[in-house]
Amino acid sequence: METERIKAALIDGYLDEPSCLGVPPYVSPHIRYIYGALIAGGILPENVDFLTADHYRNQKEDRLANLEEKDLVIILAGTTVPGNYLEGQPLSLAEIRELGERLFYPTLVLTGPITLVWENLPGAAGLAENFDIITGEIGAARLYLRLCEQSGSPGNVAPSHLSDSLKKGGGGFTAEALSRWAIKGAEIFERHPGYPRLLAEIETFRGCPRPRGCSFCSEQLKQVHYQRRPENITAEVREIAEKGIHNYRLGCQTDLLGYTGRSDYRKTGKSAVSGTKTADLDAILAWNNRALKKLYSGIRKADPYLRVLHLDNINPGPLGRQSSRARRSLEIICRYNTPGDVAAFGLESADPEVIRANNIDASPGETREAIRLVNEIGGRRKDGIPKLLPGLNFLLGLRGETDRSYELNLKFLESIKEEGLLLRRINIRQVNPLGSYQSRKVQRSKLLKFKEKVNQKINQPMLRKVFPRGTVIKNVWPVQAKGSLTFGRPSGSYPILIGIPGNYLEQQEMAVQVIDHGYRSITALPYPFYIDRAGLKELTHIPGIGENRARKIILERPVNYSELLKILGPSFPGEEWQAIFQFSSK
Ligand code: SF4
Repeated sequence: METERIKAALIDGYLDEPSCLGVPPYVSPHIRYIYGALIAGGILPENVDFLTADHYRNQKEDRLANLEEKDLVIILAGTTVPGNYLEGQPLSLAEIRELGERLFYPTLVLTGPITLVWENLPGAAGLAENFDIITGEIGAARLYLRLCEQSGSPGNVAPSHLSDSLKKGGGGFTAEALSRWAIKGAEIFERHPGYPRLLAEIETFRGCPRPRGCSFCSEQLKQVHYQRRPENITAEVREIAEKGIHNYRLGCQTDLLGYTGRSDYRKTGKSAVSGTKTADLDAILAWNNRALKKLYSGIRKADPYLRVLHLDNINPGPLGRQSSRARRSLEIICRYNTPGDVAAFGLESADPEVIRANNIDASPGETREAIRLVNEIGGRRKDGIPKLLPGLNFLLGLRGETDRSYELNLKFLESIKEEGLLLRRINIRQVNPLGSYQSRKVQRSKLLKFKEKVNQKINQPMLRKVFPRGTVIKNVWPVQAKGSLTFGRPSGSYPILIGIPGNYLEQQEMAVQVIDHGYRSITALPYPFYIDRAGLKELTHIPGIGENRARKIILERPVNYSELLKILGPSFPGEEWQAIFQFSSK
């Protein structure tokens, strides 16, 4: 069939892998590449339907009937790290199987991180009967090559060069092709049901810069590696901004300090920052910092209305080895980023035995140094929020783990707290099965006990310091109402979960002011908060007020702070709240 006549549907089943997040509000670069590749391969934009996993699920029978009318249905899916999501649920294996079983006419294509691990997934048998599984990497490129082959048309990227580039493991040509498709792929945003409350996950490079990766990590399964040039990324940002999205996360790479902006980094070794001795590190990071500066300053220029510029993943190893250039890297990031940014560090374990057994790069000592450095450079506040703080990832069930590993993990965290350093968030997960990697079974009771200790001893005190009472958080997107609270998050990297008394779901965006701290979430009031107009629900959530005092406030409607204090009585710590409570008559 001529490609202009092909009727296609593209389903974003969402992806989550160590180096990339594509669950709403994040939109992965890969779904945008695929869309651009379909159009470049000759399919007309008006003939491509775009669906998300939730979109499909919510009206499944209607969607299935519509999909049956298509010639080609492409599903992007795969969560190779465990996660809990508030705003979208990735397509499950059972749902993918059901799509395969219920659709008869269209050609079904499955692509994305799921294709790296699908053969080992329980219940995956039979998938290959119904799906054309693009087991090779870079689904967008392989789909494009098929379309060109089918139509005999060369499209906008020379197919022979592209297939050579893929065979050699990527390099410049693949990255250039993807960057072209990313421009067209920006159209996805306007077609997304979450528009405009979306974040563009941006890819800077693909592959782990370490010559031999950590034993449990799916990144080492990727054979195609490349770096994207800063000018290509900024052109993509310009296009996304034109579509009305101004939130970006440089989240699609394994270690942002490994960004060189050069396609030949593997050959030159210029990006092999991980595991490198300090003497070499300085030269390598000097090289990388030039690209980092060009990238960040270019993004700022490309989107003058930019609202969020955050990052993900930084390997604490190179930072902890304390190169002066690593300091410079952080200075560049903190000059151009927006507040609330988080550098997620994969410490994984504070037990040296586990680190050795799994070939993890950074030692606890190096991670501690990295945490100090990020606190020193990123800890300054803008609009009351730290510019950049570290996050820490722990993995449980790793090879070599013993009871002592849990003690060492906790000890490490306590020492960080005692030193007065801040951590924005601590992520504790269990290892996902991966190929022949044999993880240790984690006893549920042990896992829960460890999490409970971390929550009580570390998470809550940290949250009190990161977001002290009275901190104003802007750009909060209300997403879910539960009981008497609306839950929302600010747009950005690892956004804090905020419970807001009342129902604000009809608001696109709001500003809030922090009043209380949980283990992994905070409670906040709408900002500004007019206490003389507040309802019972809002007032009873304020620590120290309670239902009786709340009723009294509603009954007596104080018009100034001294009247309010009379109602609250001398036991209420009035001074702590004076800046938070406003009066509408003033
Ligand atoms: S450093 Fe380890 S965890 Fe990070 S991407 Fe490489 S292999 Fe994966």
